[in-house]
Amino acid sequence: MIYEKAPAKINLTLDVLHKRDDGYHEVEMVMTTIDLADRLSFEVMNSNRVEIASENRFVPNDKRNLAFQAATLIKERFDIKQGVRIHLDKHIPVAAGLAGGSSDAAATLRGVNRLFNIGLSQEELQEIGAEIGSDVPFCVMGGTALAKGRGVELQPLSSPPACWVVLAKPSIGVSTKDIYSKVNLEQLNHPNTQAMIEVLENHDFKGICKHLGNVLQPITSTMHHQVRQIIQRMNKAGGTGVLMSGSGPTVFSLVAKEEKAERIYNSLRGFCSEVYMVRILG
Ligand code: ATP
Repeated sequence: MIYEKAPAKINLTLDVLHKRDDGYHEVEMVMTTIDLADRLSFEVMNSNRVEIASENRFVPNDKRNLAFQAATLIKERFDIKQGVRIHLDKHIPVAAGLAGGSSDAAATLRGVNRLFNIGLSQEELQEIGAEIGSDVPFCVMGGTALAKGRGVELQPLSSPPACWVVLAKPSIGVSTKDIYSKVNLEQLNHPNTQAMIEVLENHDFKGICKHLGNVLQPITSTMHHQVRQIIQRMNKAGGTGVLMSGSGPTVFSLVAKEEKAERIYNSLRGFCSEVYMVRILG
């Protein structure tokens, strides 16, 4: 049996530059991994099948599951005749803007590579990951990175200094495709990605909080008042560095001091059913 952790990501920046001919948006995003993770186990099966089991009712246990797709892709590509049984212990909220499914796919690529001794490098796993989804290569790489193109061109960056991340997800799911379809390129308030890269290099926590930005936040928060309410609550509780991650609806706050992070965490509990206080993994 082989085990892999699949950590969630948050966006420190998310910018949309233009719409590409292939239908994807050209993006620029700074992402970092956090210590909120799914846990996966992988076991060889003699029958030539992929089986996936998860107790989470929001997660499909069939070919719609990105971990299933990752295992199937590797098996087909390398003509592996044995099967694999995957158990998925879900901790990352689903459809939350935290790349839970993509991270499960990345963990599956790593896990199946080890299980069958295929010997693929991290770069090769990233390339295969890009066939499954735009966030998968970043999830294979982990740490902190700038993602460009449709999200698969990666440049590793310095990670933020150690800090707390308080996350709150309202009980609504958001479709990434739906939010991107509402982007109006003329009306975006672009984050300063270059400035974010510089403050990361300088380990400047206040600078990181200052340069957080996500062009999708006004779209999702206009559609879902719960997102606006969480942002307001976090700010009222003294939250620093408050931003929505990905296409939402999860909102996070970066906090240096533990007592302050606890205060923000407590102010959100009761208001929101899914609230977390974790560390940046970096
Ligand atoms: P993205 O921004 O990449 O869409 P997300 O974090 O917003 O990611 P996910 O948690 O990955 O969203 O879930 C999006 C959809 O993908 C869910 O509605 C779910 O049905 C499907 N899905 C497929 N595989 C998984 C998985 N392993 N874990 C969670 N959801 C999955």
